Amino acid sequence: MAKYRIVYDRNACIGAAACVASKPDSWKLDDENKAVLNGSTEKDGKFELEFEEPELQKHLEAARACPTNAIHIINTETGEELV
Ligand code: SF4
Repeated sequence: MAKYRIVYDRNACIGAAACVASKPDSWKLDDENKAVLNGSTEKDGKFELEFEEPELQKHLEAARACPTNAIHIINTETGEELV
């Protein structure tokens, strides 16, 4: 299991694109002006992606930049929600 997980709530996204600006290799906007998390899988209506330590800072930046708090980052070892 990877050390961190992104949980993205597409319903909360308003298309502000701050995530795209912070981490363009992971986020893009689709035709509905909603963010898409590259490589993620849908689970219980939310999109999840696991990743390792080297990507943490950039993913944190993107999550913190989101005006609607649609992006959460969880430490999968401790269960702590970082954002
Ligand atoms: S920053 Fe938040 S609201 Fe803006 S596009 Fe990304 S997920 Fe959506």
